[in-house]
Amino acid sequence: MSNILGLKCRECSRSFPAEALHVCDYCFGPLEVVYDYEKIKSSISRESIKKGPNTIWRYRDLLPVDDDNPVDLGAGFTPLVRADRLGSTLGIKNLWIKDDTRNPTGSFKDRVVSVALTRARQLGFKIAACASTGNLANSVAAHSARAGMESFVFIPSNLEVAKIVTTAVYGGSVIAVEGSYDDVNRLCAELASEKPSWAFVNVNVRPYYAEGSKTLAFEVAEQLNFELPDHVVVPIASGSQLTKIDKGFKEFYEVGLLSEEKQVRVSGAQALGCSPVATAFASNADYIKPVKPDTIAKSLAIGNPADGYYALEVARNSGGVIDAVSDDDILDGIRLLAKTEGIFAETAGGVTIATLVRLANNGTIKSDETVVAFVTGHGLKTVEALAPNTGASVTIPPTLEAFEESLEQLKRD
Ligand SMILES: *Cc1c(COP(=O)(O)O)cnc(C)c1O
Ligand SMILES: [Zn+2]
Repeated sequence: MSNILGLKCRECSRSFPAEALHVCDYCFGPLEVVYDYEKIKSSISRESIKKGPNTIWRYRDLLPVDDDNPVDLGAGFTPLVRADRLGSTLGIKNLWIKDDTRNPTGSFKDRVVSVALTRARQLGFKIAACASTGNLANSVAAHSARAGMESFVFIPSNLEVAKIVTTAVYGGSVIAVEGSYDDVNRLCAELASEKPSWAFVNVNVRPYYAEGSKTLAFEVAEQLNFELPDHVVVPIASGSQLTKIDKGFKEFYEVGLLSEEKQVRVSGAQALGCSPVATAFASNADYIKPVKPDTIAKSLAIGNPADGYYALEVARNSGGVIDAVSDDDILDGIRLLAKTEGIFAETAGGVTIATLVRLANNGTIKSDETVVAFVTGHGLKTVEALAPNTGASVTIPPTLEAFEESLEQLKRD
């Protein structure tokens, strides 16, 4: 039982079979999954979705798979948290946080990997691989273990300790490469043609991988009672997540799950130390000039983003913007979210929140818009970004007197 018709080139629209292919032979454009929406429309309903599991697999009809045996650690269906305290700080009346820190390996990557490895296994692959800025490594190693697949994950050697430990523990091979993510990615692109029996989740099975991000949009729509928000703020690494959130909102309408068609404003968030898409947006350019990343937001540090151009297009066509924030702002963003809502985000979440703050302050976000900010990774992954300035309020000897004295000091601070 399949709802997919095949793959199609985003540039020249040529068709390809639904195999492990990712670029068009004719024009080198990226390939995208094509669905039989008429068929899906006849089987999907709000009720059928509600009967599904509390994971991304409740939207199985709109995911690029052929059977009902997913590689599943329980990714998705994360809370959409109403953020009144943060909202009132920013002057936004209807603010929601999509809390994707709550995924099995602590980031949104579990969505895309669960889909990619499910499809890879259906296509007969027994070995999984990826080029990663960290979170993808965690997720590929964990899901491969779950599926009984062998894994090879390639990471830049300067990655956060937490991300290396939490990948290696799953027992696959972790290859630390001396270079940036873009070097790692180039190596994997070469390797993918050398090793056709390996499923590189973000190379040869990328069209399937990318579809997993749509579930963020599906969940937000369902959690808002099958209505769409007015404006969303999404972090950008390769730009894939941002474009697929837009696609997900459109698909929900297409298959009859929403009563009204609506263009959600989609805004993108980058770190200033790696902001090629924000730079192109600001200068009204169509071409994304690659950069050499230098930021604490390592999970977003892709200097040459594969879907940057499409992310730019989505932001422009939807009435959104793409903005960038400094490393200090990122740390402030992490603290602000933690302090107002009790949610601890990694640096990528700090990028989203700091950008949200900017857009609220400069009037891009209107106070009466329903806004969703995507917080995509857990703070425990990047504690070293905060550690130097975040610790005990005071250190005292174990006496009552000392505590009373310190209390005076804490009140003054
Ligand atoms: C990978 C990642 C993203 C965004 O990825 P895209 O490549 O733009 O789809 C966002 N947040 C976190 C924490 C990530 O790891
Ligand atoms: Zn083409």
